[in-house]
Amino acid sequence: GGALRVVLGDQCARDIAALRDLDPARDTVLMMEVQEECTYVPHHPQKIVLVLSAMRHFARALAARGVRVDHVRLDDPANTHGFRGEVLRAVARHRPARIVATHPGEWRVLEDMRGWEAASGVPVEIREDARFLCPLPRFRAWAEGRKSYRMEFFYREMRRMTGLLMEGDAPAGGQWNFDAENRSALPEGMAPPPPPRFAPDGITREVMALVAARFGAHFGALEGFAWPVTARDARAALDAFIRDRLPRFGDYQDAMAAGQPTLFHSLVSTSLNIGLLDPMEACRGAEQAWRDGHAPLNAAEGFIRQILGWREYVRGIYWHLMPGYAAENALGAGRPLPAFYWGAPTSMRCMAEAVAQTRDLAYAHHIQRLMVTGNFALLAGIAPAEINAWYLAVYADAFEWVALPNTHGMAIHADGGLMASKPYAASAAYINRMSDYCRGCAHDPKQATGPRACPFNFLYWDFIARHADRFAANPRMALPLRSLARMDPRNVAAMRAEAGRFLAALDG
Ligand code: SF4
Repeated sequence: GGALRVVLGDQCARDIAALRDLDPARDTVLMMEVQEECTYVPHHPQKIVLVLSAMRHFARALAARGVRVDHVRLDDPANTHGFRGEVLRAVARHRPARIVATHPGEWRVLEDMRGWEAASGVPVEIREDARFLCPLPRFRAWAEGRKSYRMEFFYREMRRMTGLLMEGDAPAGGQWNFDAENRSALPEGMAPPPPPRFAPDGITREVMALVAARFGAHFGALEGFAWPVTARDARAALDAFIRDRLPRFGDYQDAMAAGQPTLFHSLVSTSLNIGLLDPMEACRGAEQAWRDGHAPLNAAEGFIRQILGWREYVRGIYWHLMPGYAAENALGAGRPLPAFYWGAPTSMRCMAEAVAQTRDLAYAHHIQRLMVTGNFALLAGIAPAEINAWYLAVYADAFEWVALPNTHGMAIHADGGLMASKPYAASAAYINRMSDYCRGCAHDPKQATGPRACPFNFLYWDFIARHADRFAANPRMALPLRSLARMDPRNVAAMRAEAGRFLAALDG
């Protein structure tokens, strides 16, 4: 027999490692739609549609090239709804001499994959996922022996390695990072160009009906699905971003605005993460736009850093530190996730906006994730497992390799500072400066006690006070600790009492 080549739902790339050296005459490509992958966390219905529709389009494109594809459908009555069970059934059908797979994006799936050989009696080869620009052994070599892992230093190595935005040995523009220029709030009346929408075709509509019937109870709206599900649409989405939004992406990267869910963001993460778009192609496109004078350097650099820096870095962190990483809980957080993360009403407008657009679009940009929903979870001490599962479930671009380090490490500091040198904790002043949410909110961003106090304020000071001993060792926390020490103790006590009442009500 030939090879059984396994392609997972987030591996819909023509040049995926498992398909290298494919022999169409003898090999079979196995694709599996299994219930377990849709429900181990309650994935947003749009995310399930995204992955299943991309798989079906990808399978069709392979078949059109004369490749034999064995595509197990979700509604196949014989489906065992787990990868191992489906691999075993496929082995019985095809009697392959070997199984070839690409390294998956989740520890859980890698463990499953490692059991395929013993379960089937067929040798299994798991290949490095070459879609990533930093091979895992290279990341390990970089990380070995470091006490903490700072993205900035990793990113510089990646710039040198790829030559992106380099002028000889020096970074273009004389600086590695232009983040200081990327912190403007959105001016009143500025309307960012909307990203293109990709109307569902017949395949996607069929998947939407299937998902509505099976996973309709999951949090999230299905109607309005408009994500790219093919490589061609993903390329069109990238081109539209570079043309229309990249020039201002840098300036307003950290801005938030009510009714403006996407601003100047690229929305390419879903396509990158399931294999429809090549990360290097996205980076080169942005670099070219800068070289052509179409986009300023702070925009191109900011975008490239997200992909070449952050994206590669969090993936390296994930595989370097799993499986222990997920279990860390440096701040001892244990509060259950409040119901408003699942759409229950809340008087906090910033939270309500972020959650509502998450429900409608399966998308929020990174400042909303980090400084609104993430910041709240950090301040309120939400249990890492609960908030991590939420992020993994509700965002269309969330796969564990990328979601876990971003939430666990960056947003809620559960790793105790391996990734970030201080917690990304902020009071209402930050949200008020970077957004227009506070106007028209029931709370007053300038008040920390009393009936209109903003929860982000009293929770922030309660958080600093609660962890004061721990933070005393961190020079980057000296400023908030000094401010706390200078406050009137009666004021601190009042804020902490307010926080106590608020958190008790949250738990009740
Ligand atoms: Fe959010 Fe507070 Fe601003 Fe309201 S006042 S939008 S709760 S930061």
